[in-house]
Amino acid sequence: MNIILLGPPGAGKGTQAHFLVEDRNMIQLSTGDMLREAKDSGSEMGKIVADVMARGDLVTDEIVIGLIREKLQGDKKGGFIFDGFPRTLAQADALAELLEETGETLDKVVAMEVNDDALVARITARSTCAGCGEVYNDITKPIPADGKCSNCGSTEFKRRADDNEESLKNRLMEYYKKTSMLIGYYHAKGQLAWVNGLGEIDEVKAEIAEVLG
Ligand code: AMP
Repeated sequence: MNIILLGPPGAGKGTQAHFLVEDRNMIQLSTGDMLREAKDSGSEMGKIVADVMARGDLVTDEIVIGLIREKLQGDKKGGFIFDGFPRTLAQADALAELLEETGETLDKVVAMEVNDDALVARITARSTCAGCGEVYNDITKPIPADGKCSNCGSTEFKRRADDNEESLKNRLMEYYKKTSMLIGYYHAKGQLAWVNGLGEIDEVKAEIAEVLG
């Protein structure tokens, strides 16, 4: 099964993708994670995208489509979770072509509904484990009192450089201008399912499980 998690920054795509990786042996393909890796490694491409990401703008379709194309060649396990991709109509069309080339199908697009106030609150409180990427939130899921990640035991946590209010405003604007029309696109293809992204993490997880069957 191949699915897309669709929603604005802070909707909980990464958190829910982690559950699907654990429970269904799926592969999370987060273009945001791939781009951050490229940036941290100091590669040429990483240098090109660093400023764009810091501002909260979208990087070019060409770059992200290239990243996804590479990953689709590898092991498929329980299927792919596209997290933060596609973000434009050009990316959605490219994904359809890539899946067709590899004989795969897109089974479901899970749209996560949230409101902007919740997004700002979540994002400015967000941190991740440096060891395994487990997502924490100062309010809803604080780092354990012993200072160790509950998943891998690492004691190092980081906050994303673009998780600040200025960049977030821009990321939200990019979402509404360029990504939100994908809801109509996938609705028209009969692939869209809504879940309420505002619920508790476990409630959202259960809703997604129901939608995926
Ligand atoms: P994310 O981790 O998904 O919030 O992505 C972080 C940043 O990476 C975004 O604000 C964009 O600058 C860039 N990015 C991630 N995925 C894409 C994509 N599919 N298309 C364009 N830019 C992307």
